[in-house]
Amino acid sequence: MNDLTLFCKQLKQGFKPKKAKPDELVRCWSEKDVLNQNVVDTFVIIFRTKGCSWALKSGCTMCGYFNDSMWSKVSSNDLLKQFETAIKKYNGQRFVKIFTSGSFLDEKEIPSNVRKKILKTLFEKAEKISVESRPEYVKNDVLSEIKETIVNSKVFEIGVGLETADDYIRIHNINKGFTFNDYKRSAETIKKFDFKLKTYVLVKPPFLTEKESIKDAIKTVEKIKNITDVVSLNPVNVQRNTVVEFLWQRNSYRPPWLYSVVEVLKESKKIVGDKQVKCDIVGGGSVRGSHNCKNCDSFFLKAISNFSLYQDASVFDDLSCECREKWLDQLELEELGFGSLANMYR
Ligand code: SF4
Ligand SMILES: [Zn+2]
Repeated sequence: MNDLTLFCKQLKQGFKPKKAKPDELVRCWSEKDVLNQNVVDTFVIIFRTKGCSWALKSGCTMCGYFNDSMWSKVSSNDLLKQFETAIKKYNGQRFVKIFTSGSFLDEKEIPSNVRKKILKTLFEKAEKISVESRPEYVKNDVLSEIKETIVNSKVFEIGVGLETADDYIRIHNINKGFTFNDYKRSAETIKKFDFKLKTYVLVKPPFLTEKESIKDAIKTVEKIKNITDVVSLNPVNVQRNTVVEFLWQRNSYRPPWLYSVVEVLKESKKIVGDKQVKCDIVGGGSVRGSHNCKNCDSFFLKAISNFSLYQDASVFDDLSCECREKWLDQLELEELGFGSLANMYR
Protein backbone atom coordinates (compact mmCIF):
# COMPACT_ATOMS: atom_id res chain seq x y z
CA MET A 1 0.00 0.00 0.00
CA ASN A 2 1.60 3.32 -1.02
CA ASP A 3 1.38 6.49 1.10
CA LEU A 4 -1.53 7.98 -0.83
CA THR A 5 -3.54 4.75 -0.66
CA LEU A 6 -2.92 4.70 3.07
CA PHE A 7 -3.87 8.36 3.47
CA CYS A 8 -7.16 7.86 1.59
CA LYS A 9 -7.87 4.95 3.94
CA GLN A 10 -6.92 6.92 7.05
CA LEU A 11 -9.17 9.85 6.11
CA LYS A 12 -12.14 7.49 6.33
CA GLN A 13 -11.19 6.08 9.72
CA GLY A 14 -13.83 7.07 12.21
CA PHE A 15 -16.19 7.98 9.37
CA LYS A 16 -19.79 7.22 10.28
CA PRO A 17 -22.21 6.79 7.39
CA LYS A 18 -25.33 8.97 7.46
CA LYS A 19 -28.32 7.30 9.03
CA ALA A 20 -30.32 6.17 6.04
CA LYS A 21 -32.76 3.35 5.45
CA PRO A 22 -31.38 0.62 3.19
CA ASP A 23 -34.61 0.55 1.20
CA GLU A 24 -34.45 4.31 0.57
CA LEU A 25 -33.33 5.45 -2.87
CA VAL A 26 -30.68 8.22 -2.88
CA ARG A 27 -32.55 10.14 -5.59
CA CYS A 28 -34.23 9.96 -9.00
CA TRP A 29 -35.14 12.75 -11.42
CA SER A 30 -35.55 13.64 -15.07
CA GLU A 31 -33.09 15.73 -17.09
CA LYS A 32 -32.06 16.31 -20.70
CA ASP A 33 -29.45 14.15 -22.41
CA VAL A 34 -28.58 12.96 -25.89
CA LEU A 35 -30.00 9.84 -27.54
CA ASN A 36 -29.22 9.12 -31.20
CA GLN A 37 -28.09 12.73 -31.64
CA ASN A 38 -31.40 14.07 -30.33
CA VAL A 39 -31.94 15.81 -27.02
CA VAL A 40 -34.45 13.76 -25.02
CA ASP A 41 -35.86 13.53 -21.49
CA THR A 42 -33.68 11.16 -19.53
CA PHE A 43 -34.49 9.42 -16.27
CA VAL A 44 -31.72 9.27 -13.67
CA ILE A 45 -31.70 6.84 -10.73
CA ILE A 46 -29.16 6.77 -7.89
CA PHE A 47 -29.35 3.55 -5.86
CA ARG A 48 -28.15 3.37 -2.28
CA THR A 49 -25.83 0.35 -2.06
CA LYS A 50 -23.15 -0.96 0.24
CA GLY A 51 -20.77 1.38 -1.61
CA CYS A 52 -17.88 1.24 -4.04
CA SER A 53 -15.57 -1.66 -3.17
CA TRP A 54 -12.52 0.55 -3.73
CA ALA A 55 -13.89 3.39 -1.59
CA LEU A 56 -14.50 0.95 1.24
CA LYS A 57 -10.85 -0.17 1.08
CA SER A 58 -9.17 3.18 0.41
CA GLY A 59 -10.79 5.21 -2.39
CA CYS A 60 -9.98 7.85 -4.98
CA THR A 61 -8.61 11.20 -3.80
CA MET A 62 -11.52 13.26 -5.17
CA CYS A 63 -14.45 10.90 -4.56
CA GLY A 64 -16.93 11.47 -1.75
CA TYR A 65 -19.67 9.21 -3.13
CA PHE A 66 -19.10 6.94 -0.15
CA ASN A 67 -20.84 9.63 1.94
CA ASP A 68 -24.13 8.40 0.42
CA SER A 69 -23.39 4.67 0.77
CA MET A 70 -24.56 2.34 3.53
CA TRP A 71 -21.14 0.73 4.21
CA SER A 72 -23.04 -2.45 5.10
CA LYS A 73 -24.84 -4.96 2.96
CA VAL A 74 -28.04 -3.81 1.29
CA SER A 75 -30.28 -6.83 0.64
CA SER A 76 -31.84 -7.70 -2.71
CA ASN A 77 -35.24 -6.95 -1.19
CA ASP A 78 -34.17 -3.47 -0.11
CA LEU A 79 -32.70 -2.74 -3.54
CA LEU A 80 -35.91 -3.87 -5.19
CA LYS A 81 -37.89 -1.60 -2.86
CA GLN A 82 -35.65 1.30 -3.95
CA PHE A 83 -36.37 0.34 -7.53
CA GLU A 84 -40.14 0.36 -6.83
CA THR A 85 -39.80 3.96 -5.59
CA ALA A 86 -37.98 4.91 -8.77
CA ILE A 87 -40.36 3.14 -11.08
CA LYS A 88 -43.33 5.07 -9.61
CA LYS A 89 -41.71 8.25 -10.90
CA TYR A 90 -40.60 6.81 -14.24
CA ASN A 91 -42.57 8.22 -17.14
CA GLY A 92 -41.27 5.97 -19.90
CA GLN A 93 -38.24 8.13 -20.76
CA ARG A 94 -36.33 6.51 -23.64
CA PHE A 95 -32.95 6.98 -21.97
CA VAL A 96 -32.26 5.87 -18.38
CA LYS A 97 -29.03 6.49 -16.46
CA ILE A 98 -28.36 4.36 -13.38
CA PHE A 99 -25.80 5.29 -10.72
CA THR A 100 -24.88 3.42 -7.56
CA SER A 101 -22.03 5.65 -6.34
CA GLY A 102 -19.93 2.62 -7.21
CA SER A 103 -20.22 -0.21 -9.73
CA PHE A 104 -23.55 -1.47 -11.05
CA LEU A 105 -21.75 -4.61 -12.24
CA ASP A 106 -20.30 -5.45 -8.82
CA GLU A 107 -22.23 -8.41 -7.42
CA LYS A 108 -21.64 -7.14 -3.87
CA GLU A 109 -23.43 -3.89 -4.67
CA ILE A 110 -26.13 -5.14 -7.03
CA PRO A 111 -26.72 -8.92 -7.04
CA SER A 112 -27.39 -10.40 -10.46
CA ASN A 113 -31.08 -11.18 -9.76
CA VAL A 114 -31.68 -7.51 -8.93
CA ARG A 115 -29.64 -6.32 -11.91
CA LYS A 116 -31.68 -8.51 -14.24
CA LYS A 117 -34.99 -7.33 -12.79
CA ILE A 118 -34.01 -3.66 -13.09
CA LEU A 119 -32.76 -3.94 -16.66
CA LYS A 120 -35.61 -6.14 -17.88
CA THR A 121 -38.22 -3.79 -16.47
CA LEU A 122 -36.59 -0.63 -17.77
CA PHE A 123 -35.80 -2.05 -21.20
CA GLU A 124 -39.53 -2.63 -21.76
CA LYS A 125 -39.73 1.09 -22.49
CA ALA A 126 -36.20 2.50 -22.57
CA GLU A 127 -34.08 2.41 -25.72
CA LYS A 128 -30.84 3.06 -23.91
CA ILE A 129 -29.61 2.33 -20.39
CA SER A 130 -26.34 3.64 -19.07
CA VAL A 131 -24.57 2.31 -15.94
CA GLU A 132 -21.12 2.69 -14.37
CA SER A 133 -18.49 0.18 -13.32
CA ARG A 134 -14.88 -0.20 -12.34
CA PRO A 135 -13.03 -2.32 -14.94
CA GLU A 136 -12.58 -5.37 -12.68
CA TYR A 137 -16.35 -6.00 -12.69
CA VAL A 138 -16.63 -5.89 -16.48
CA LYS A 139 -16.58 -9.66 -16.85
CA ASN A 140 -17.75 -12.01 -19.57
CA ASP A 141 -20.29 -13.84 -17.39
CA VAL A 142 -21.85 -10.62 -16.10
CA LEU A 143 -22.10 -9.04 -19.55
CA SER A 144 -23.41 -12.25 -21.01
CA GLU A 145 -26.26 -12.25 -18.45
CA ILE A 146 -27.03 -8.63 -19.30
CA LYS A 147 -27.02 -9.41 -23.01
CA GLU A 148 -29.88 -11.85 -22.40
CA THR A 149 -32.09 -9.06 -21.03
CA ILE A 150 -31.65 -6.84 -24.08
CA VAL A 151 -33.34 -7.05 -27.44
CA ASN A 152 -31.05 -6.23 -30.34
CA SER A 153 -31.83 -2.65 -31.21
CA LYS A 154 -31.47 -1.41 -27.61
CA VAL A 155 -28.31 0.18 -26.33
CA PHE A 156 -26.47 -0.67 -23.12
CA GLU A 157 -23.69 1.71 -22.13
CA ILE A 158 -21.06 1.19 -19.45
CA GLY A 159 -19.26 4.21 -18.03
CA VAL A 160 -15.73 3.57 -16.78
CA GLY A 161 -13.87 6.17 -14.72
CA LEU A 162 -10.48 6.04 -16.36
CA GLU A 163 -9.79 9.65 -15.25
CA THR A 164 -6.40 9.82 -17.01
CA ALA A 165 -4.45 7.68 -19.47
CA ASP A 166 -1.29 8.41 -17.45
CA ASP A 167 -0.65 5.57 -14.99
CA TYR A 168 1.68 7.73 -12.90
CA ILE A 169 -1.02 10.33 -12.32
CA ARG A 170 -3.68 7.67 -11.75
CA ILE A 171 -1.53 6.10 -9.03
CA HIS A 172 0.09 9.15 -7.41
CA ASN A 173 -2.60 11.80 -7.78
CA ILE A 174 -5.86 9.90 -7.95
CA ASN A 175 -5.23 6.57 -6.20
CA LYS A 176 -7.55 4.91 -8.65
CA GLY A 177 -6.47 1.34 -7.98
CA PHE A 178 -6.30 0.14 -11.60
CA THR A 179 -4.13 0.68 -14.66
CA PHE A 180 -4.63 1.94 -18.19
CA ASN A 181 -4.28 -1.66 -19.37
CA ASP A 182 -7.09 -2.75 -17.04
CA TYR A 183 -9.25 -0.08 -18.66
CA LYS A 184 -8.28 -1.24 -22.16
CA ARG A 185 -9.11 -4.85 -21.29
CA SER A 186 -12.55 -3.83 -20.00
CA ALA A 187 -13.09 -1.81 -23.19
CA GLU A 188 -12.38 -4.92 -25.29
CA THR A 189 -14.88 -6.95 -23.27
CA ILE A 190 -17.52 -4.24 -23.64
CA LYS A 191 -16.97 -4.17 -27.43
CA LYS A 192 -17.16 -7.97 -27.63
CA PHE A 193 -20.72 -7.77 -26.36
CA ASP A 194 -21.56 -4.91 -28.65
CA PHE A 195 -22.19 -2.56 -25.75
CA LYS A 196 -21.12 1.09 -25.68
CA LEU A 197 -18.31 2.55 -23.61
CA LYS A 198 -18.41 5.97 -21.97
CA THR A 199 -15.10 7.07 -20.47
CA TYR A 200 -14.88 9.58 -17.66
CA VAL A 201 -11.87 11.88 -17.81
CA LEU A 202 -10.97 13.96 -14.77
CA VAL A 203 -10.19 17.64 -15.12
CA LYS A 204 -7.71 18.68 -12.46
CA PRO A 205 -6.75 15.82 -10.18
CA PRO A 206 -5.02 17.04 -7.00
CA PHE A 207 -1.24 17.63 -7.06
CA LEU A 208 -1.27 18.88 -10.67
CA THR A 209 -1.07 22.49 -11.76
CA GLU A 210 -3.95 23.97 -13.76
CA LYS A 211 -1.85 23.83 -16.93
CA GLU A 212 -0.72 20.25 -16.36
CA SER A 213 -4.30 19.18 -15.78
CA ILE A 214 -5.44 20.72 -19.07
CA LYS A 215 -2.64 18.96 -20.92
CA ASP A 216 -3.29 15.66 -19.15
CA ALA A 217 -7.01 15.66 -19.97
CA ILE A 218 -6.36 16.45 -23.65
CA LYS A 219 -3.63 13.82 -23.89
CA THR A 220 -6.00 11.31 -22.33
CA VAL A 221 -8.72 12.04 -24.88
CA GLU A 222 -6.14 11.61 -27.65
CA LYS A 223 -5.21 8.18 -26.26
CA ILE A 224 -8.76 6.91 -25.91
CA LYS A 225 -10.29 8.42 -29.04
CA ASN A 226 -10.37 5.05 -30.83
CA ILE A 227 -11.38 3.10 -27.75
CA THR A 228 -14.35 4.95 -26.29
CA ASP A 229 -17.74 5.84 -27.77
CA VAL A 230 -18.38 8.83 -25.51
CA VAL A 231 -16.01 11.08 -23.58
CA SER A 232 -17.41 12.52 -20.36
CA LEU A 233 -15.24 15.17 -18.75
CA ASN A 234 -15.47 15.45 -14.99
CA PRO A 235 -14.11 18.67 -13.50
CA VAL A 236 -13.20 17.92 -9.89
CA ASN A 237 -15.42 19.36 -7.20
CA VAL A 238 -14.51 19.38 -3.53
CA GLN A 239 -16.46 16.55 -1.88
CA ARG A 240 -16.61 15.90 1.83
CA ASN A 241 -14.04 13.70 3.60
CA THR A 242 -11.68 13.45 0.64
CA VAL A 243 -8.01 14.20 0.01
CA VAL A 244 -9.14 17.00 -2.27
CA GLU A 245 -11.12 18.54 0.59
CA PHE A 246 -8.13 18.12 2.93
CA LEU A 247 -5.95 20.10 0.48
CA TRP A 248 -8.65 22.67 -0.30
CA GLN A 249 -9.16 23.43 3.39
CA ARG A 250 -5.42 24.19 3.57
CA ASN A 251 -5.46 26.44 0.49
CA SER A 252 -3.56 23.83 -1.49
CA TYR A 253 -6.21 23.02 -4.07
CA ARG A 254 -8.49 25.07 -6.30
CA PRO A 255 -11.12 23.34 -8.47
CA PRO A 256 -10.50 23.91 -12.19
CA TRP A 257 -11.32 27.22 -13.80
CA LEU A 258 -14.24 27.05 -16.24
CA TYR A 259 -11.78 28.45 -18.83
CA SER A 260 -9.75 25.27 -18.42
CA VAL A 261 -12.83 23.10 -18.82
CA VAL A 262 -13.80 24.96 -22.01
CA GLU A 263 -10.26 24.57 -23.32
CA VAL A 264 -10.36 20.81 -22.76
CA LEU A 265 -13.84 20.52 -24.28
CA LYS A 266 -12.84 22.40 -27.43
CA GLU A 267 -9.67 20.37 -27.95
CA SER A 268 -11.42 17.09 -27.15
CA LYS A 269 -14.09 17.77 -29.74
CA LYS A 270 -11.41 18.41 -32.37
CA ILE A 271 -9.79 15.11 -31.42
CA VAL A 272 -12.84 12.81 -31.37
CA GLY A 273 -14.80 14.37 -34.27
CA ASP A 274 -18.28 12.85 -34.44
CA LYS A 275 -18.11 11.11 -31.11
CA GLN A 276 -19.93 12.76 -28.22
CA VAL A 277 -18.00 14.84 -25.70
CA LYS A 278 -19.94 15.84 -22.63
CA CYS A 279 -19.41 17.50 -19.31
CA ASP A 280 -21.75 17.57 -16.32
CA ILE A 281 -20.43 20.07 -13.85
CA VAL A 282 -21.21 19.31 -10.22
CA GLY A 283 -21.27 22.38 -7.99
CA GLY A 284 -20.31 24.66 -10.89
CA GLY A 285 -19.94 28.34 -9.97
CA SER A 286 -19.43 27.59 -6.26
CA VAL A 287 -16.15 27.66 -4.36
CA ARG A 288 -16.22 23.88 -4.14
CA GLY A 289 -16.91 23.44 -7.85
CA SER A 290 -15.36 24.48 -11.12
CA HIS A 291 -15.64 28.27 -11.29
CA ASN A 292 -14.29 31.53 -12.74
CA CYS A 293 -15.74 34.67 -11.15
CA LYS A 294 -19.26 35.58 -10.05
CA ASN A 295 -19.73 37.77 -13.15
CA CYS A 296 -19.23 35.06 -15.73
CA ASP A 297 -19.80 31.65 -14.07
CA SER A 298 -23.42 31.35 -15.19
CA PHE A 299 -22.60 32.17 -18.87
CA PHE A 300 -19.82 29.60 -18.93
CA LEU A 301 -21.94 26.93 -17.25
CA LYS A 302 -24.79 27.52 -19.70
CA ALA A 303 -22.42 27.29 -22.67
CA ILE A 304 -20.87 24.06 -21.35
CA SER A 305 -24.27 22.49 -20.82
CA ASN A 306 -25.39 23.56 -24.33
CA PHE A 307 -22.21 22.16 -25.81
CA SER A 308 -22.80 18.84 -24.05
CA LEU A 309 -26.25 18.57 -25.59
CA TYR A 310 -25.65 19.99 -29.10
CA GLN A 311 -21.89 19.44 -29.65
CA ASP A 312 -21.43 22.85 -31.20
CA ALA A 313 -18.16 24.42 -30.01
CA SER A 314 -19.14 27.84 -31.39
CA VAL A 315 -21.10 28.38 -28.11
CA PHE A 316 -17.71 29.18 -26.59
CA ASP A 317 -16.80 31.87 -29.14
CA ASP A 318 -18.29 34.91 -27.43
CA LEU A 319 -17.37 34.05 -23.86
CA SER A 320 -15.12 36.58 -22.25
CA CYS A 321 -14.63 38.23 -18.88
CA GLU A 322 -11.98 40.28 -17.10
CA CYS A 323 -11.08 37.30 -14.93
CA ARG A 324 -9.47 35.59 -17.93
CA GLU A 325 -6.25 37.46 -17.09
CA LYS A 326 -6.18 35.85 -13.65
CA TRP A 327 -6.59 32.42 -15.18
CA LEU A 328 -3.75 33.11 -17.62
CA ASP A 329 -1.60 34.33 -14.73
CA GLN A 330 -2.24 31.14 -12.84
CA LEU A 331 -1.26 29.01 -15.85
CA GLU A 332 2.02 30.88 -16.09
CA LEU A 333 2.88 31.51 -12.43
CA GLU A 334 2.30 28.02 -11.10
CA GLU A 335 5.00 26.78 -13.43
CA LEU A 336 7.37 29.55 -12.40
CA GLY A 337 6.74 28.64 -8.77
CA PHE A 338 7.49 25.05 -7.97
CA GLY A 339 5.07 23.45 -10.44
CA SER A 340 3.38 20.37 -9.10
CA LEU A 341 4.39 17.50 -6.87
CA ALA A 342 3.78 15.04 -9.69
CA ASN A 343 6.22 16.97 -11.81
CA MET A 344 8.86 17.16 -9.07
CA TYR A 345 8.90 13.47 -8.23
CA ARG A 346 8.15 11.87 -11.56
S1 SF4 B 1 -14.36 7.47 -8.14
FE1 SF4 B 1 -15.40 5.54 -8.58
S2 SF4 B 1 -13.81 4.00 -8.18
FE2 SF4 B 1 -13.12 5.85 -7.17
S3 SF4 B 1 -13.85 5.64 -5.07
FE3 SF4 B 1 -15.39 6.81 -6.23
S4 SF4 B 1 -16.89 5.34 -6.91
FE4 SF4 B 1 -15.04 4.20 -6.31
ZN1 LIG C 1 -15.24 36.23 -14.86
